[in-house]
Amino acid sequence: MKSIVISQSEGQNKLEMDEQPRPEANENDLLIKVKMAAVNRTDILIKETNTSYGSNPIPGVEVAGTVVEADSDHSFAVGDRVMGLVNRGGYAEYAVMPADRAMKIPESLSFKEGAAIPEVFLTAYQTLFWIGKLQKNDTVLIHAGASGVGTAAIQLAKQLTGAKIIVTAGTERKLQFCSELGADVTINYKKQPFDKAVLEATDNQGADLILDFIGASYWDKNLTSIKTDGRWVLIGVMGGSKLENMNLMSLMSKRIQLTGTMLTPRSDAYKAELSREFAEEVLPYLEQGSIHPVLDNTFLIDDIHEAHQHMKENKNIGKIILDVGS
Ligand code: NAP
Repeated sequence: MKSIVISQSEGQNKLEMDEQPRPEANENDLLIKVKMAAVNRTDILIKETNTSYGSNPIPGVEVAGTVVEADSDHSFAVGDRVMGLVNRGGYAEYAVMPADRAMKIPESLSFKEGAAIPEVFLTAYQTLFWIGKLQKNDTVLIHAGASGVGTAAIQLAKQLTGAKIIVTAGTERKLQFCSELGADVTINYKKQPFDKAVLEATDNQGADLILDFIGASYWDKNLTSIKTDGRWVLIGVMGGSKLENMNLMSLMSKRIQLTGTMLTPRSDAYKAELSREFAEEVLPYLEQGSIHPVLDNTFLIDDIHEAHQHMKENKNIGKIILDVGS
């Protein structure tokens, strides 16, 4: 089958088109003919940091397509349109997905829209509700508001809790988009210190919950922006992972709960439970259209380098889709 693989040449990882054998599905798996996959920062990171790519050289953690081989319990049938997380192997014509985490694509949604859902919506759902314990009367600060995860988090927070939503982003176009999705307060972090704006928007109290994709470069301002007893979920380190001169007293004195999390290395059982609950709680909203996947550009899988470059240059609003062409 046609696929993109990470290969090594002179100690460097590179991405290239390659023919690979079709993956074999076990009895609890679905074999999926992939229609659309999507790009995630983890795919770029694996390539750029020269991380070992293990036994599967095909990157890609999410797909949308049709079932060509069902699991032995027949929880899905051949021909069903499904979407979900895969344990690598998404950038290919066929992929294997454990059946207990597959989700039926609502009839109102296309394969492109299906591919834009799993990674960012499951991450946003898990971090807002399972880890962040977001409640109706809370204020949540969502950084990188126009990112894939950010656009999902704004909609989930608004629809499922009605919490007050403050977002940061780096362009007026992105901030406008976040407002249209439901953000109550938008802050251009390139034009003003976001912590001052958060305090102004919260009567000097700060946010109850912060979804932090940025890490080191936002550390001090996040400390100022968070409420006493606040929850802070660290999901990314786009602004660096190393802190100098960190004073732990600041965490203690504000009684902050700081939690780090990464979805990809979580267990199969965790991903299954998260997908099951998400399907029950959120798919009805996606079906009706009151929550929608946010699509940026679609690239042919042959143009994988351009697709990754588009994300690296922070050009996207929402998800970058890969058309696998099958
Ligand atoms: P994305 O769509 O590529 O958007 C990222 C946006 O972040 C950029 O467009 C840019 O927007 C902003 N940004 C980039 N570098 C920045 C910096 N140094 N300071 C401030 N803002 C910066 O991203 P995504 O796919 O949604 O992923 C968002 C983050 O979540 C990534 O760090 C990703 O690795 C992480 N993630 C984590 C998990 C997990 O389980 N832990 C799962 C999925 C994703 P502006 O133009 O507004 O600056």
